[in-house]
Amino acid sequence: MPLTLYVDGERWRKHLQAVRDAHPGIVPVLKGNGYGFGIGRLAATSAWLGADTVAVGTYPEVAPAAEEFHGSVMVLAPWRPFETRAVFDQHVVHTVGRLSDLDDLLERDAKPRVVLERLTSMRRHGFSARDLRDAGERIATSGDGVAVEGVAMHLPISKGSHLSEVNRLMTDVVAAGLPTNQVYVSHLTDEELGTLRQTYPDFEFRPRIGTSLWLGDRDALSVRATVLDVHHVERGEGYGYRSRTAPAAGTIVVVAGGTAHGIGLEAPTGGATLKDRAARIAKGGLDAAGFVRSPYTLDGKHRLFAEPPHMQASMLFLPAGARVPEVGDEVDVRVRYTATSFDETVVA
Ligand SMILES: *Cc1c(COP(=O)(O)O)cnc(C)c1O
Repeated sequence: MPLTLYVDGERWRKHLQAVRDAHPGIVPVLKGNGYGFGIGRLAATSAWLGADTVAVGTYPEVAPAAEEFHGSVMVLAPWRPFETRAVFDQHVVHTVGRLSDLDDLLERDAKPRVVLERLTSMRRHGFSARDLRDAGERIATSGDGVAVEGVAMHLPISKGSHLSEVNRLMTDVVAAGLPTNQVYVSHLTDEELGTLRQTYPDFEFRPRIGTSLWLGDRDALSVRATVLDVHHVERGEGYGYRSRTAPAAGTIVVVAGGTAHGIGLEAPTGGATLKDRAARIAKGGLDAAGFVRSPYTLDGKHRLFAEPPHMQASMLFLPAGARVPEVGDEVDVRVRYTATSFDETVVA
């Protein structure tokens, strides 16, 4: 059991159902590493939740999602003519944000399903107000060119309210006279959604949610790494790729998880300020020897990396006096779920 994500299945599923029930029309987002769970598992779970549509990030993510989920699969990345991996089939919903791309799609035989993205203050992708109106006209005169499934808006993850921005964008949507009343939104609060639904009762707002759905109840999740080896070292003895010498007697603990899993890619937290660091050096702490805090905890304490993480394992330094784990024990690790590849996921 190397680096393992443990899921308290009952608790996790309860949380998922609660989020679904609180968000009518929810579109679960499954992109990237599947938020640590994998796209296939999240697709199957979305089907279990009763979603009619899921969103993936990119075209190559369509196939693993469609294997487990038989409803609509929306691709969040905009369709582009140079996207050689684009998938055209009737369960795929393309995101379109430029007139030239729309023209391209209008000419296809397949009558692609599309959402028209309106550019937001994110300034990532999407039509300007004027181009959205133009898009509406081109679609109206094209006859049967594309099936418009909705408008999309991707808002920044900000603390302030999005309402005035969304109101402005909705004015553009109404002006465009599109043959749809669905609006797919990202990163609105529940309160903002509620207000919008009251303000625009003729429209259906559908939230696209990833993090707060899959990772919203952290207590349902735990990550543990297997202890692969332990070695006692005396002060001055060498170890590791760099033949460092131990600054004191202690134990080198080799644990599962390395750069290939995404371990150690984040800047270490804690003791980050110079003053902090100076104080610790003055006290002769181990980080005075240049050791960096690791995300692994043993006996409730974050332990130090004995050297930078290797590809699939990491070496920790455990000072003398600390309880030494046994080979095969599991220790807690703090990870960023969206950036970690687990060796195994165990849903209990
Ligand atoms: C990733 C993404 C989401 C989901 O974001 P979370 O913060 O994980 O909920 C929604 N919409 C778009 C366009 C995205 O790219």
